Amino acid sequence: MIQTQLYIDGRWQSPLEGGTRDILSPADESVIAQAAEGTRADAQIAIAAARRAFDGPWRQTTIRDRARLLNSIAALIDRDAEELARLESLNTGKTLTESRTDMGDIAATFRYFAGLVASESGAVNEAPHHVISRTLREPVGVCGLITPWNYPLLQAAWKIAPALGAGNTVIIKPSNLTPLTTHHFTKLIAELDLPAGVFNLVTGGAEVGAELAESRDVDLVSFTGGAFAGESIMKAATGNFKRIGLELGGKNPNIVFADADLDVAVDYALNAAFFHAGQVCSAGSRLMIEDSIYEAFVAKLAERLPRIAIGNGFHAETQMGPVQSAQQHEKILRMVQAGVAEGARLVYGGKRPEGDVYQKGYWLQPTLLADVTADMNIAKEEIFGPVVTAERFRSEDDALRAANDTPYGLAAAVWTRDLDKANRMSRALRFGTVWVNDYHPYFPEAPWGGYKASGIGRELARIGLDEYTELKHSYINLAPKAMGWFGA
Ligand code: NAD
Repeated sequence: MIQTQLYIDGRWQSPLEGGTRDILSPADESVIAQAAEGTRADAQIAIAAARRAFDGPWRQTTIRDRARLLNSIAALIDRDAEELARLESLNTGKTLTESRTDMGDIAATFRYFAGLVASESGAVNEAPHHVISRTLREPVGVCGLITPWNYPLLQAAWKIAPALGAGNTVIIKPSNLTPLTTHHFTKLIAELDLPAGVFNLVTGGAEVGAELAESRDVDLVSFTGGAFAGESIMKAATGNFKRIGLELGGKNPNIVFADADLDVAVDYALNAAFFHAGQVCSAGSRLMIEDSIYEAFVAKLAERLPRIAIGNGFHAETQMGPVQSAQQHEKILRMVQAGVAEGARLVYGGKRPEGDVYQKGYWLQPTLLADVTADMNIAKEEIFGPVVTAERFRSEDDALRAANDTPYGLAAAVWTRDLDKANRMSRALRFGTVWVNDYHPYFPEAPWGGYKASGIGRELARIGLDEYTELKHSYINLAPKAMGWFGA
């Protein structure tokens, strides 16, 4: 049985109050690990350790030291990639293929930020000859990093790599449903020669996250998760006006025009909606289809859904695993029923698959709700499960208005062969990412984040590093002389 501990001030330790939590397999509800369940008190000692480390010799590290550190982490991720991928699949239920892809992306994220950090040199500004004026980037300080359960280590990497690369100290708090890969990652960190307190792991629930958000000794909090917790973190952060980064939910329209390649668009629509059983913040869960191809598109989807192989993520033939928790399973079923009650047509799915192996665990059929209209709640609220809704639209304006009429703004996609239309739509859609004739790709080089209620700030890309820095204007007068402004 895997047992996890907290890692604070360079030492593995048990929570002060001795708390533990059973970690369940989403595939069969068996206990796969016992995780340390920290509390506010543990978060406080981790914050104090991170504060001391930030104010100590860690501040003297050079960009070369920190770039080397990120590259060393990437090498350790590569070394343990298979073990990490297996832990991620065990804990989240996602297929091993998906977890292996995640580990590759995580190592790439560390390498990308290593390169970026190494190229950081500040700027010398134009100024009078007796003055040296420089623009410098400095670390923000102590960073509280809070991550969700759907991409546990990937989301952590998007925060840890730029935070350490910029010279901050960190306390990471993964979701208490999925702490296993972040715990293993911390073992890799412990192999490296980092000063005590630079990297701290405090597993636990919302109270640990709340402490990170409220503490006046934390300078920045970066959170990925739902709107409810995001709102409370934003309010808590006002105590010391700490920097905040919020990556929140989405309701992402996947808009298919009649001139698109129908079979390709259907194929991608499946990937957009059912990859990782739809538990993706950018899932294409809201299909919008032009009127003239609507019936054909829905029919093609309906024909494909029963062929999706649902099963244990460790089996090679599995295409879709279970959802992650009992709570999520219940919520998704409730939302499907509510959608039907408000007039959506259940074309396929909406229940637990049949068969003995699916009776334990959090299994759901891929689900298609058709004839959805923009005013229905099912078209507006994030489902975060293997459910796609289909709406019809009659014109480009119609599609645009309905797609933008959501509090969210994370991602959208457009399918058309008309480049002018593709360009018009991608400019007019109010979303942080707009794909044309594709779905889901992201790169460390490109920014990730949402408009409106999908978040504040961006991760990845140069801006993803800049968010962990303060900008300083350093002005040095080399030959000060009396000014005489107020006379002699
Ligand atoms: P969640 O908000 O329930 O929890 C996220 C994290 O916050 C967990 O570690 C949790 O313990 C902690 N937390 C909960 N309440 C808190 C509080 N009051 N103060 C501080 N911390 C608190 O989210 P979840 O269910 O783990 O994740 C699913 C959500 O995450 C979805 O809405 C999804 O869209 C979103 N998400 C967004 C992105 C993105 O890039 N925008 C990526 C992945 C997931």
